[in-house]
Amino acid sequence: MTIRSRFAPSPTGYLHVGGARTALFSWLYARKHGGTFILRIEDTDLERSTPESVNAILEGMAWLGLDYDEGPFYQTQRFDRYKALIAQLLDEGKAYPCYCSRETLDQMREEQMAKKEKPRYDGRCRHLTSPPHGITPVVRFRNPDEGEVVIEDLVKGDIVVRNGELDDLIIARSDGSPTYNFTVVVDDLEMEVSHVIRGDDHVNNTPRQINILKALGASLPLYAHVPMILGSDGARLSKRHGAVSVLQYRDEGYLPEALLNYLVRLGWSHGDQEIFSIDEMIQAFDIPNINCSASTFNPEKLLWLNHHYIMHGDPVHVAHHLRWHLGQCGVDPSQGPDPVAVVKAQRERNKTLLDMAHSSLFFYRDFEEYDEKAAQKNLTRDALQGLQTLMSPLEALRPWVRESIHDVIVATAESLGVKMGVIAQPLRVAVSGTTVSPPIDLTLEILGKEKTIERLHKACAWINSTAR
Ligand code: GLU
Repeated sequence: MTIRSRFAPSPTGYLHVGGARTALFSWLYARKHGGTFILRIEDTDLERSTPESVNAILEGMAWLGLDYDEGPFYQTQRFDRYKALIAQLLDEGKAYPCYCSRETLDQMREEQMAKKEKPRYDGRCRHLTSPPHGITPVVRFRNPDEGEVVIEDLVKGDIVVRNGELDDLIIARSDGSPTYNFTVVVDDLEMEVSHVIRGDDHVNNTPRQINILKALGASLPLYAHVPMILGSDGARLSKRHGAVSVLQYRDEGYLPEALLNYLVRLGWSHGDQEIFSIDEMIQAFDIPNINCSASTFNPEKLLWLNHHYIMHGDPVHVAHHLRWHLGQCGVDPSQGPDPVAVVKAQRERNKTLLDMAHSSLFFYRDFEEYDEKAAQKNLTRDALQGLQTLMSPLEALRPWVRESIHDVIVATAESLGVKMGVIAQPLRVAVSGTTVSPPIDLTLEILGKEKTIERLHKACAWINSTAR
């Protein structure tokens, strides 16, 4: 069987982690089986769909590296196809026009509720002989009355729904526009989707979709409904649980591979393995090991994984993402030290690339002010002699490498009869503006000689001017 899977988001908001996980599972399944992964934008809800949201989906997918082989297809560009198939179903008597007004439907509903029945359309327009004048009808799908629909769900097992529980679904609104359940069916059919992998919030739609597929004479795709993601309080994951948008994770300094690794384990397992490279995920992924129950989003674990990938990832790759963050902070990383060296120096103490970018800005641009406490404690009259004494041996130093910088600092401390920290900490504040930086010799190596000397002069002038 040729595997064709799809991700079919509605562009009505950002790409959230739940959607990204669905996309990932569908993508992995296609990649594992050498199949085709399709991206389809379900933008028929003209009021709620926005171009910004389409962009967020495309940007999020690109950032995650979830590439698609076909698409993006836009449902709004396929209205002619939907309309043709609605006409076909009408011709074949498998759908019918319905003229019921809102008031009629409300009344029907109230009467059913009063009789403690489940509210549903009672099919009264199925056999209309003389349609009323002056009303543009909707089109309803004639659902079978008898029998049952079986969803052979690859995650949940068989789900059986009696046709008697399903009513005649509207497939075209009175303006002729097709409705969601119909467009999904037509697209899954015409795009020859073999596997519908999606959130289990859609499981109630599936029996209706199966009936429409059958009416169109189609064979059924296989379904895999993936359980929801919950927040730590057990409620469905939403904005109030913190960041849930993929691009927000990018902006907050997460690596795409960390987010993917986190998402793949959210509702799927492979023994007790926690760390998966993309290739390992593709190798190991399978549908039977998707959990049947909902999973809980754990931001601490995601942060832990992010730090893991920052620490153990190829520094060249990590630096690629760091460059982007530096750019976002308004610095041009090409006008300063190689970000690869910065990553190597900074990765231990930064769990996100945003933190790394912020704590590395001093390598790329002069800071306006010293951290107040750091300066108060370290840039004092007592520190002045150390800083001044460092200046000429550092200026004379060639090559400008960590080991010899270290030797200069040690020799300076010895010559002044003080501990190394007495020299190193004011030096750190002088060059970085704060008390936190990589080891001081490495910090100076990366910063470069010229900047180091310049900042030493500046710090000495500052101490003199503040006269403490
Ligand atoms: N467009 C639907 C959504 O964003 C998904 C439909 C589907 O996967 O079948 O929830």
